Amino acid sequence: MPPGRPRQRQCAASVAHGVSYRDAGRHLVAHAPGRRTSKVSLSHHLRAARPATIGLMDMLLRNAFVYTGDVHHTCFPRGALLVCDGRLRWVGDESDLPEGLPAQVVDLGGRVVMPGLINTHTHGGLSLHRGCCDCGNLFQWAQTLAPFTSPLTLEDNRLGCYLAVLEMVRGGVTTACDCTRYGAGLFAAVAAEVGMRSLGGALANSPALRPMGRPNWPLALEETLRAMSELGGDSRCRFYLGAHSPYSCTPELLVEVKQQADRLGLPFVIHAAESQEEVQIVRSRHGRRPIEHLHHLGVLDARTLLAHCIWVDEDEIGLIAATGAAVAHNPISNAKLASGIAPVQALRARGVPVGLGTDSMLSNNAQNLFQEMKFAVLLQRAHRLDGHALSSREVLSMATREGARALGWESEIGSLEAGKEADLVVLDLDHPLGLTPERVLSDLVFAAGPEHVRTVMVRGETIFDQGRFTRIDEREVRDRIRRHAAGLSSHVT
Ligand SMILES: [Zn+2]
Repeated sequence: MPPGRPRQRQCAASVAHGVSYRDAGRHLVAHAPGRRTSKVSLSHHLRAARPATIGLMDMLLRNAFVYTGDVHHTCFPRGALLVCDGRLRWVGDESDLPEGLPAQVVDLGGRVVMPGLINTHTHGGLSLHRGCCDCGNLFQWAQTLAPFTSPLTLEDNRLGCYLAVLEMVRGGVTTACDCTRYGAGLFAAVAAEVGMRSLGGALANSPALRPMGRPNWPLALEETLRAMSELGGDSRCRFYLGAHSPYSCTPELLVEVKQQADRLGLPFVIHAAESQEEVQIVRSRHGRRPIEHLHHLGVLDARTLLAHCIWVDEDEIGLIAATGAAVAHNPISNAKLASGIAPVQALRARGVPVGLGTDSMLSNNAQNLFQEMKFAVLLQRAHRLDGHALSSREVLSMATREGARALGWESEIGSLEAGKEADLVVLDLDHPLGLTPERVLSDLVFAAGPEHVRTVMVRGETIFDQGRFTRIDEREVRDRIRRHAAGLSSHVT
C-alpha cells in the first residue's frame, strides 16, 4: 500500500455495491452518538469477504427498532443492519450508516428486529402424536405413550420433524437442538430444507434399561457420521452424540458415547436430574445423585449439554459450573409432567449457560419460545414468591445469546452484532405509548407470540415472510403429513 494512502478494506460484494468501511488498524470502526465505539473484528470481516453464496445478498435493513440482544441489551430505536454474505456487517443507528449503497434496501417500517430465538431442547420426530397423552408424571406419561412412540418409523419421525420445524420458524425460532432415538440426521435434513439451523443427533440408551424398541447404539453413531458426511457441508447443520439419561444408560455406555463425541469433537447431550424418581433410581444403583454420577464417569465438561437439571443440589450445581457444562431449561414441559421447577437463578448465578427449550410436542405441546420465556419468568416468581425473580432481560438472554452459548455456537449466532451470522426475526409490535427499549423488552417476553412474527431470516436469507415459507410449499408438506397420518389412526385412537 503506498504511503499516505488511507487504509481501507472492502468485501468483494461491498466494493461492487459501493459500501466502504474505515479501517482503524485491526478493527473496522463505526461510531454511534452516545454509545461506546463498536469494534468489528477484522478476522470476521475478512471471513465475510469471501464470494457471496448463492441465494445470499448484500442488503440494508433500515427503519427498524433493533434489539441487539448483546450483553448490554443495546437497542437502536432508529436502527439499521447491513447484511453481507449472510453476516451482519454493521448494526447501529441509521444516522451512522457507513457510506455507500448496498444492492438492496429493505424499509422495515419501524418494526422490531430481534435475534433469532434458540430452542435448546426438542424432539421434533414425536410431533405427529401431539395431544395423545396430556396427564401423568414423567414416568407414567412415558409409559402411556410408549405404544405410540416405540413403533415410530423413520418416515413418521421425518414428518414429525416437518411439523416441529414449521411451527418453530413461524414462531421466530432460527436454531434448535433436536433429540431422537433413531434417525440422527432426519431433523437436520428437514431443518436445512426449510432453512433453519440445527444441532441434531440421537440419544443412545441401553436395551436392558430401556427395553421398549430396538437397540440404538452404535446405530446412533453410524447415523450421525452419515449425516455429517451428507449435510456437514451446510453450515446450518451441526451434530452431537448423546445418551438418553443416567437411568436408561449403563455407565459403560455413557463413557463410550462421550469418548466418541470427544474423538469427533462433538457436543454431548443428555437428559439429567429431570425427576425425583430419577434421583432415587441413580442413587440406589450407583450410590450417587445423577450429576455426581455423570461427573464421576467423566462425562461433564464444556461440551456437555444437560437437559432439565431440576433436582440438583448445591454441590451438583457447583459441579456443573466447575466443569463448564450447560443446561437446557424446559419450564413448560417440566411443569406439565409434574417434574418440578429448575433452580434457574442458582445455576445462572454460578455462571452456568442456561438456554430455553420447549421439549417435545408430547410434553409441551407447542414449540413456542415466546410462551417458554413468559412461563419461565412466571414459574420462578410464583415458586419463589419473588416478583423480581428472572427479569425480561435475563430470560431474553436465555432464549438467544445464552442459548447459543449452551449449544457452543455463540461466536456465530445469538445476538445481532457485527461479525455474527444474520439470524433475525422481524416483528409487528406496536405500543400505544410508542416503542421504547423498556416497552419492547417487556412486550417480547410478556405479550408477543408467533402471531407477531412477520419475517424470519437465517444467514441473511428470508426463510419465512408474511405467513409464507420461502423454500418449501407448506400446503404440500401438510397434505403429505395428513395422508401419512391417516394410516396411523389405527394405533393412535
Ligand atoms: Zn427431552
